[in-house]
Amino acid sequence: MSWVEGAAGGPFGIHHLPYGVFSTAADPHPRPAVRIGDFALDLRELAAGPFLLPWIRPAFGALDLGEFMAAGPAAWRAVRLQLTELLTDDHYAAEYEHLLVPIDEVTMHRPFAVADFVDFYSSEHHATNLGRMLRPDSEPLLPNWKRLPVGYHGRAGTVVPSGTPIHRPDGQSKGPDGAIEFGPSRRLDIEAEVGFVVGVGTELGEAVAPDRFTDHVFGLVLLNDWSARDLQAWEYQPLGPFLGKSFATSIGHWVTPLEALDPARTDAPAQDPAPHDYLAEADRFAYDLTLSVALNGTEVARPPFAQMYWTPAQQLAHMTVNGASLRTGDLYGSGTVSGPEKSQWGSFQELSWGGKEPIRLPDGSERTFLEAGDTVAIGATAPGPDGETIGLGEVAGTVTG
Ligand code: CA
Repeated sequence: MSWVEGAAGGPFGIHHLPYGVFSTAADPHPRPAVRIGDFALDLRELAAGPFLLPWIRPAFGALDLGEFMAAGPAAWRAVRLQLTELLTDDHYAAEYEHLLVPIDEVTMHRPFAVADFVDFYSSEHHATNLGRMLRPDSEPLLPNWKRLPVGYHGRAGTVVPSGTPIHRPDGQSKGPDGAIEFGPSRRLDIEAEVGFVVGVGTELGEAVAPDRFTDHVFGLVLLNDWSARDLQAWEYQPLGPFLGKSFATSIGHWVTPLEALDPARTDAPAQDPAPHDYLAEADRFAYDLTLSVALNGTEVARPPFAQMYWTPAQQLAHMTVNGASLRTGDLYGSGTVSGPEKSQWGSFQELSWGGKEPIRLPDGSERTFLEAGDTVAIGATAPGPDGETIGLGEVAGTVTG
């Protein structure tokens, strides 16, 4: 139990402890924090005192989480143990309570500088839905899909923190009569994903085996891969996604450390055919996260992350098997998370079946794709220890124009 009032039983209890970066009106310098209940614990101030191990203190004097992420798993475990001790042992309350800043008094910032951004396509249900829509007369999955985690490199510089307004992109698309038009996207969509954050980099030429996943990956965030379907459909062949994706990708403010999700480990789907050796996992597992996609406050889908065909460990192995190096701050998205049921689909492309079947909202309005002023918020829950539930930091954005 934490001595922090209101922390027990909520999404940010003592077993979660995600990291973020905040400032306040009184002190506008961004600085690292750990979330407990409805408070941000100021890690810069904590690190200015004697509580944390001396060798880790300088990392929290930085403007974001990068130095701490680069410090590696031993540092991550040590700090988590120390923070757990500080926040559970009552006799620290008097000394450290003043480092807790109420969450409604903070401005949150992007938690780390994104180095490279890679996005995968690893939900069998999502890829099958898209295949059925785009290629109705052939096999929904392309021949490579069960052989490797399909992915592409995205645009790191347009990864923005939750709450950043999303401008509707302009671009070329093919109109209903086949004419090529230019203008604002008419098919602005979301993709509900989970983003994995690399802490420890590698040297050029070094491949990372799946079983070294936790040596390199610091944690995860919820991610919305905003997508302009009409731009995407016209531009994507033969080189893949480009301007239909690069205008914005939103991530949550709070990075959940992998260790917080150890109780949420569960079996990942069996793979057939068996993957190549470099993708084979000695300990294959999924994280049992249930995502929630809300449009203007109404939940429209609950995608199940545990059903992803390719795991984040396999994705990491695949993106490094050619010797491409990792850097601190690399971010890779899972791909749209969709389950077998319509209520579990993580994009409006699927929920409206390519715009043909509008979804109805409680106010009587209908949606196929996003309209001006629409707000999409993606949250997620995961089982914690002792029957508790962890709630990940949400990622939200409002469409302007
Ligand atoms: Ca995506």
